[in-house]
Amino acid sequence: MDKAKKVLKDIFGYDSFRPLQESIIQSVLDKKDTLVIMPTGGGKSLCYQIPALLFEGLTIVVSPLISLMKDQTGQLRENGVGVAMLNSSLSAEQYSKNYQLVLTNKVKLLYLAPESLGKLEILGLLSKVRLDCITVDEAHCISEWGHDFRPDYRQLGALRKQYPNAVCIGLTATATPRVQDDIVTNLCLINAQRFVAGFNRENLFLRVVTKADPYGQTLDFLRRHKDEPGIIYCFSRKQVDNLYEDLSAVGISCKPYHAGLSDETRVKNQDLFTRDEVQVIIATIAFGMGINKSNVRFVLHYDLPKNLESYYQEIGRAGRDGTPAECLLLYSYADVNKINYFIEQKDNPVEKAAARQQLNAMLQYAEWNRCRRIPLITHFGEKWPEEECETCDNCTVDLAKQVDITIEAQKFLSAVKRTNEMYGVNYIVDVLTGSKSAKILDTGHHNLSVYGVGSEHPKKQWMHLAQQFIKKGLLNREEEFGGLRLTAKAMNVLFKGEKVLGLLEEKAVT
Ligand code: ADP
Ligand code: ZN
Repeated sequence: MDKAKKVLKDIFGYDSFRPLQESIIQSVLDKKDTLVIMPTGGGKSLCYQIPALLFEGLTIVVSPLISLMKDQTGQLRENGVGVAMLNSSLSAEQYSKNYQLVLTNKVKLLYLAPESLGKLEILGLLSKVRLDCITVDEAHCISEWGHDFRPDYRQLGALRKQYPNAVCIGLTATATPRVQDDIVTNLCLINAQRFVAGFNRENLFLRVVTKADPYGQTLDFLRRHKDEPGIIYCFSRKQVDNLYEDLSAVGISCKPYHAGLSDETRVKNQDLFTRDEVQVIIATIAFGMGINKSNVRFVLHYDLPKNLESYYQEIGRAGRDGTPAECLLLYSYADVNKINYFIEQKDNPVEKAAARQQLNAMLQYAEWNRCRRIPLITHFGEKWPEEECETCDNCTVDLAKQVDITIEAQKFLSAVKRTNEMYGVNYIVDVLTGSKSAKILDTGHHNLSVYGVGSEHPKKQWMHLAQQFIKKGLLNREEEFGGLRLTAKAMNVLFKGEKVLGLLEEKAVT
């Protein structure tokens, strides 16, 4: 370890290790297979770069992102480290030059794209040198249960088996415990040491509100964050364009960003934002990779993300300077249905099941009634105490504003029961408010005694109430089709006079 500390100082110029880096490096140097789950910016690269410099032979680094490969090899070269990459972005001349460098043991680290592992010349090259370490970056790509499965990664298991004397290290910023297990199995790791680190970001205020009037809610939110830099994420390019037009029209300094814009426009808009010349960037998920801006004060999700992994990465772009930043998610059942619709279009049953499971984790977070850090952080396999924090909506809710909503709960629960626990929130609210939709007339539910008994509240308010009933554990959502089911707690409310307290009106976004 003394040698590792010396390399840290001499080559990289740092005085001390970040949390876990030291134990991870120790594990790799001991040639124990190692799995590292650490958020972006946590310092994963040193965990394999330092051992690579200490091993006698070669370390390969498999990474799917050519741009990151270029960055990393460039930085290492500046630090005087012998390093090369082999991928399709190189000219034939450069490629064979790099090939020779590896063959003649002139480099310590070789960066490879996953598709290269199917090439005989690459496999031949590896067999001719001493291979000490196989590093797999973005290791979640090997799992069908992850959010970014790449079939080329599957070849890594065979490679790992072929070199039993090399140590294997997998790294990722996002892997649920299930995906972690998958990585261990598919990479054929032996007695893998797992390190899961530091997912909490205390300075991010986490807030979820029911999406009722998204444009108005966005304007209110922006008013609270006047002149502060921030990102608004939307589901589609079209939504980005529309919102950009509307917000520009009312004088908000903003620019759009999505894959439908020319490269030039995207680079320009990102630069304007990075240099604080434009306040807000309105974007699809295409925005954010590698963005280097520490003073982002808010991230607003105008639409529901497909999974908690993307959500975590996107909000993670706020508050990198460590000072308070706010993350607001506008949550609606319409968005859930929209995502479900896309899931249903998938042909591959495993992919479909995985997407459903990911969406469910997202919903669990959105509907959670205790500290939001519990579902968010434990999702990545980190242990997290069931304590209150000071920076999420649920931990700071104003209890004094709660009122008795037992009658509303009873009406809602009865409607769920009378319609045989088969329908989602929208439908139940339609029954309660006496909607004349064709679906209700078809099923004959307009003849039920609960039909129209909730007409004292508008639909929007019922949606807000319904969300609280779910949060309070009175209802479960059936996984496949989203139908609501009553829980034992609901029975107490319906038949044993148990009271329900909550907020009758949508709580103001404070
Ligand atoms: P990740 O790959 O986990 O996203 P990186 O490896 O790119 O993170 O590291 C993020 C930043 O932190 C880099 O600028 C890196 O130089 C810096 N860093 C990593 N380890 C240390 C350390 N021990 N001391 C100081 N800075 C560090
Ligand atoms: Zn909290």
